[in-house]
Amino acid sequence: MAPMTADRRPLLNRRLAEFGTTIFAEMSALAVRTGALNLGQGFPDADGPEEVREAAVRALREGRGNQYPPGPGVPELRQAVAAHQERFYGHLGVTCDPDREVLVTAGATEAIAASLLGLVEPGDEVIALEPYYDSYAASIAMAGGTRVPVTLRPGEDGAYHLDLDELRDAVTDRTRLLLLNSPHNPTGTVLRREELAAIAELCRERDLLAVTDEVYEHLVFDGEHLPLASFPGMRDRTVTISSAGKTFSFTGWKVGWVTGSAELVTAVRSAKQYLTFVSAGPFQYAVAEALALPDAYYTALREDLREKRDLLSQGLAEAGFGVFRPAGTYFVTADIRPLGAESGLDFCLGLPERCGVVAVPTQVFYDHQAAGAPYVRFAFCKRHDVLAEAARRLKGAG
Ligand SMILES: *Cc1c(COP(=O)(O)O)cnc(C)c1O
Repeated sequence: MAPMTADRRPLLNRRLAEFGTTIFAEMSALAVRTGALNLGQGFPDADGPEEVREAAVRALREGRGNQYPPGPGVPELRQAVAAHQERFYGHLGVTCDPDREVLVTAGATEAIAASLLGLVEPGDEVIALEPYYDSYAASIAMAGGTRVPVTLRPGEDGAYHLDLDELRDAVTDRTRLLLLNSPHNPTGTVLRREELAAIAELCRERDLLAVTDEVYEHLVFDGEHLPLASFPGMRDRTVTISSAGKTFSFTGWKVGWVTGSAELVTAVRSAKQYLTFVSAGPFQYAVAEALALPDAYYTALREDLREKRDLLSQGLAEAGFGVFRPAGTYFVTADIRPLGAESGLDFCLGLPERCGVVAVPTQVFYDHQAAGAPYVRFAFCKRHDVLAEAARRLKGAG
């Protein structure tokens, strides 16, 4: 074949040109190269419950899910998702019909992409809270939307806050939807009842849809997780997304789900069916069993991570970082300025050599990069001994 001529380059199209390799790949490669402890990427270093793994093996052996499962997901998992919503949020009025209002996806990542592809017209504006999870910007771009960031800002109280006036001002006649994430990665912010009520009011007033990424719904240490869908008038406007990755420590399985009104779920499914069609057959049966684990499982997961949050936060504080104590998720962000540094990017590039730890600069999750420049993110979904060793090493971070 003749070589590509120069005028056909760059190969990557304009929609995706700004998205190079994700920072996680880059930092994880650095971790491998230097042998540093990887607190960069948010994957647990211990797998989820043995009985759930066994359930996947059984499904494989018994030939359940080895061929294309049904498009919306296997009935067992759709029923388990509906039962989970009822168990944890039924008291808030959140319920869903497993046949019409649940869709199984290839992780939350596909659920987000399919929601945007199914609901956004080219040129529509999509508001997202920055710093944001890195797939949001790319998914908005693939849907032809324009992203409009609203910045969560650190306050005096050591937490990040949403400025509701700024959010209101960001809405224009072109705004189609709000893409929200609570508990929020990377800041650990959990939106409070008053904030969610104000967001719901804004959606009603301006006739907006909401897509809510709730993958950390069970990792709330302070306060409580409230689905936006439970607020007045939001049931028919909200696509609620979650996944098994974070809740059950199987990030490699890529089993996620969408719940919402039949109309919204149908719109998301219209896109999903041409992305992956279906996914993860046998794992769907295993996740159905995982969702039915007793409350004690969910409590133990949360309490284990609460301890780990405290362990790493204390280590960071003792090492001289300014620590933003996360109310939820398994990430903690820290201010490097007390250590005499300014650029989180430079700081993270040098950190593996300096003290054998990998972190992620949060500025890559911002459009207004200056707003995130002095902050770095550490994941604490790691074994105790790893976190204790990281805390020890980080004393040499400055
Ligand atoms: C990890 C993560 C996801 C991706 O979930 P998958 O189920 O692995 O696709 C989505 N959103 C946020 C905020 C995350 O942290």
